[in-house]
Amino acid sequence: MSLVVVGLGITLGRHLSERCLSEIASADTVFALVDGMALAWLKTQRPDLQSLHPSYGDDKSRRLAYREMTDTILAALNQGKQVCAVFYGHPGVFADVPHMAIREARALGFVARMEAGISAEACLYADLGLDPGQRGVQSMEATQFLIFKRVIDPSALLLLWQVGLTGDLTLKRFDTQQAKLALLVEKLSQYYPPNHPVILYEAAQLPIGTHREEHLALGDLPRAQTSQISTLVIAPLTEPLARDEIWIKRLEALQ
Ligand code: SAM
Repeated sequence: MSLVVVGLGITLGRHLSERCLSEIASADTVFALVDGMALAWLKTQRPDLQSLHPSYGDDKSRRLAYREMTDTILAALNQGKQVCAVFYGHPGVFADVPHMAIREARALGFVARMEAGISAEACLYADLGLDPGQRGVQSMEATQFLIFKRVIDPSALLLLWQVGLTGDLTLKRFDTQQAKLALLVEKLSQYYPPNHPVILYEAAQLPIGTHREEHLALGDLPRAQTSQISTLVIAPLTEPLARDEIWIKRLEALQ
């Protein structure tokens, strides 16, 4: 009786590790929260696979759906099964159910672990040729940036996840609206000028496809096309980084 949570990666068939494949093959029970083609492919590996998707429902809060999905996974563990739960991307990145399931399984005394996967962020660095080590990176959910008093360092790269769901406080919608994106731009304008370069990025989900990389000015974001898989990439401001002489002197004393 144990739980392993694995990630399929983003591009179907390209990102899945041998280790994850063997976990999927050997588990008694496999659950998956993945879309269309990925689900169809997984079913070729495990025809008995159970999709967690039915827990989503019209007008049902995602919080409630995630609770149900976690309960479904824990129920199989309680029945004495070796359980594998499959999610897309990296299962531990911007994903509630994997973390909840592992935490709660461990609290019940089960062995539970996560296998790392290739996240959208990993694809983004490869596709856009960006190195987070150059200026540092901040990464957060677009709505979280809006509804909390977050302090941004505009000299670092900023990634806003779920930009296509910006401003949904009901946790029931899977889209956004121009007016909500306009609020996002307004708050970002505390840090960046309206002509600041941003990229709407979507990694390829199929090996035959290519990624989407739409370069635009921050001020044009409300009129841009976003989807559930869009991530907003905000370039760092280009001014040279300000040196912190006090700390440099202290370090020099130690050379
Ligand atoms: N666990 C996923 C991962 O490892 O990338 C992230 C899941 S999070 C709930 C969903 C958000 O991830 C999307 O709104 C988007 O910001 C980002 N995302 C997911 N798929 C993507 C893709 N193909 N390209 C770019 N960003 C993506």
